[in-house]
Amino acid sequence: MAKAKRYLNFIGGKWVEPATGKYTENRNPADNDDLIGEFPASGGEDVDKAVQSAKKAFNDWRLVPAPKRGELVKRVGDILVRRKEEISQVMTREMGKIIKETRGDTQEGIDTAYYSAGEGRRLFGQTVPAELPNKFAMSVRQPVGVCGMITPWNFPIAIPTWKLFPAILCGNTCVIKPATLTPASVALLMEVFQEAGLPDGVVNLVCGSGGEVGNAMVGHPDINRISFTGSVEIGRKLAEKCGANMKRLSLELGGKNAEIIMDDADLELAVEGALWGAFGTTGQRCTATSRLIVHEKVHHEVLAMMVERAKNLKVGNGLDERVEVGPMVCEDQRRTVLEYIRIGKEEDKAELVTGRGTLTEGDYAKGYFLKPTIFDRVQPGMRIAQEEIFGPVLAVITIKSLEEAIEVLNDTEYGLSSSIYTRDVNRAFQAIRDIEAGITYINGPTIGAEVQLPFGGVKNTGNGHREAGTVVYDFYTEWKSVYVDFSGRLQKAQIDTAE
Ligand code: NAP
Repeated sequence: MAKAKRYLNFIGGKWVEPATGKYTENRNPADNDDLIGEFPASGGEDVDKAVQSAKKAFNDWRLVPAPKRGELVKRVGDILVRRKEEISQVMTREMGKIIKETRGDTQEGIDTAYYSAGEGRRLFGQTVPAELPNKFAMSVRQPVGVCGMITPWNFPIAIPTWKLFPAILCGNTCVIKPATLTPASVALLMEVFQEAGLPDGVVNLVCGSGGEVGNAMVGHPDINRISFTGSVEIGRKLAEKCGANMKRLSLELGGKNAEIIMDDADLELAVEGALWGAFGTTGQRCTATSRLIVHEKVHHEVLAMMVERAKNLKVGNGLDERVEVGPMVCEDQRRTVLEYIRIGKEEDKAELVTGRGTLTEGDYAKGYFLKPTIFDRVQPGMRIAQEEIFGPVLAVITIKSLEEAIEVLNDTEYGLSSSIYTRDVNRAFQAIRDIEAGITYINGPTIGAEVQLPFGGVKNTGNGHREAGTVVYDFYTEWKSVYVDFSGRLQKAQIDTAE
């Protein structure tokens, strides 16, 4: 049997062995025989090396004019365009989601590159009137130093690029730790940085577990920012640790997103949106539609359409262009989802109308496949209506009015994405106003964010920061207020002005 390719860490512009000398295998969740490679199981020493390299690179990188940094990020985007198919194929192999979706994931990286590149010519501050004569007042953005990125497995390129591109554009240097399940895509991204000519040490990759590498990053005194995307459970631990060290932290966490279908909706469109929202990425999206809140007048019709179509979704290896639903990312994740299906069946009054389990015959035996699953007659307080399942399971809840629909939608600890299908503009605007979520779609599914707008959520979905849009630049810069007094005498603000 051919030996697996051994990948290394990327530190100071070089591919280096981990100090631990240890590696872990990365296999295709659709086909366990497919070994993608061996990746470093690094430790604290590797993190320290990467941080020192980033710290050194910061001295020069921060002084490169932002438009020039933008040009480099643009070059990164151009190379991503050229290598899009290759990267997407590797991503499908390591994460499982279907090739159309991994192409979308890479495209999101490209969009972010071009958006960030343009920001290199903006990075606006403010010029404001000073209250004293012969005085000038303005604010400028300054880079913050070394930033640490800890990313999940479900968007192996999009999420790292959401973090890295704005960070380096602002003049910072970075250390990234990808999820243990999906390091290959980020290793390719390092090749892209290298090819684009990014100076050594500006971006460093350390592969390894959250417990070792992630933990060492969060505790490292020379990392000034941590940008984390992942579960609430880990996010909460990081918040405690960063809080104790006064380290700034951006958290993008889980969701329990819902789509509302009102009685006046275009039902075809709404069902199409619900299917894509619930079963796209095999339900493993932070913005996945996990609850379908349906008006009682159209409930019967919607449910029949949903069941019929969910049953016919083609499940399989995501490299096959005809496949619509890939595998779960790993056996543990599949077990968790199966446990939720068991809980759903036992919970009061919920009725499993399609799905219920694993696909194990033939080629399915080599991967972690699940049937798209729908529960009907779910009550808002049930566990399957409250907890993030992160799999292809949809809970259908019936309501009688828009007010009730919004109340049910808001009744969870999360607040990431939301959607409503209605033809009534008044209802749409009421939903925009009253839904507690970071994102609301009108007549679109709960997934489909664009990089021009802020991405993130309220309640336990995060801690108030956002990715993307222009607001992400607030996380990667510090504001400096600058006063230039050209009066040639001592002027006292708030004192001279009162006279
Ligand atoms: P996770 O288990 O929280 O892991 C996320 C990252 O944190 C991984 O790189 C993980 O490393 C690392 N990690 C684990 N323990 C750590 C520790 N003690 N210290 C530092 N880092 C640690 O989440 P996941 O299972 O990868 O991703 C699924 C979750 O992410 C879901 O809840 C989903 O909703 C959320 N998500 C949110 C967004 C958003 O933007 N709001 C987007 C996508 C996903 P290992 O890989 O080694 O465990």
